[in-house]
Amino acid sequence: MRVVSLGSSSSGNSLYVEAGPGGRTRLLVDAGLGVRVLQARLRSLGVDLSQLRGVLVTHEHSDHVLALPSLLRRYQVPVITNEETFAAIEQGLAAGAWRSDSGKLVVSPTEAEGDVVIQEQSETTLVQEQSGVEIVTRIQESTLVYRPVNNVPALILPTGKTTAVGDIEVTSFPILHDAVAPCGYLLSVGGCRLCVVTDTGEVTSEMLSMMAQADLLVLESNHDRQRLLRGPYPQRLKQRIISSKGHLSNDQAANAVLKTWRPDSIRWLWLGHLSKTNNTPSLALTSMRERLQSAGANLSQLHITVLPPGMGGIWDSTQLWHAPSLWDL
Ligand SMILES: [Zn+2]
Ligand SMILES: [Zn+2]
Repeated sequence: MRVVSLGSSSSGNSLYVEAGPGGRTRLLVDAGLGVRVLQARLRSLGVDLSQLRGVLVTHEHSDHVLALPSLLRRYQVPVITNEETFAAIEQGLAAGAWRSDSGKLVVSPTEAEGDVVIQEQSETTLVQEQSGVEIVTRIQESTLVYRPVNNVPALILPTGKTTAVGDIEVTSFPILHDAVAPCGYLLSVGGCRLCVVTDTGEVTSEMLSMMAQADLLVLESNHDRQRLLRGPYPQRLKQRIISSKGHLSNDQAANAVLKTWRPDSIRWLWLGHLSKTNNTPSLALTSMRERLQSAGANLSQLHITVLPPGMGGIWDSTQLWHAPSLWDL
């Protein structure tokens, strides 16, 4: 499994994951960047938008879905999410606008991007370049519901269910956020696991049980609580961010990590979805390190990365073979 952060912040999130022979199963977790930016960043990895097998959507806020109109309509990339989020996406597509995380209306950029080259490709098949002859069905998961949305494919994965998307086993689980049915994801390939938890106001025991399985954990570390409370945001927005359906603070993220670590765990931790106003990379990193250190974790064995708003953060599951455990036994 190879994982690359294409962007992570309050203003745009997308994670690229590939697995299988030659990295043939290519997925995004969220697509909250402009489609041109997304395209350029994927191209730098040698990947074309038309090669994506699907986009797992955590929730319908603009910083997670901005590129969906183009991905769905121009590139025929299926959206994969639960029924409720799917309905919200249908509304967003019809309205040509999305709600931002802070409640503002964000107009979909699709119309302004008319010069994007449309890829000629079948709706349901994808030719695997590696073999040159092998053709696999793009929507082969019988457990998923196929439904056209404005003539584009969609796969319904009810929250709490597990299914195979190509070479990747995908499990969704509920998180707490002010969207219709937000969820996190656990992605597994041959015993390697990636867990994505962003945009949640609290961490539940169910979320902890998913996070505890991860080799690579992508976790929200949105704000420094004091900085938020003293900062320039209106009171209502501050209350919303610290509410149980808002965002995780640096302290909450550290607590969650402390609760999930096992003595034999080998971990990579990516801290993401940082607020530009209410956090800094060094605050997020220092806060996490100090909390873990005071709990006795061996930090030399822990790989913490603070994800930048731009491209950054690359993980390959082969790193698992070389990593010792986190805690001194
Ligand atoms: Zn967000
Ligand atoms: Zn959100």
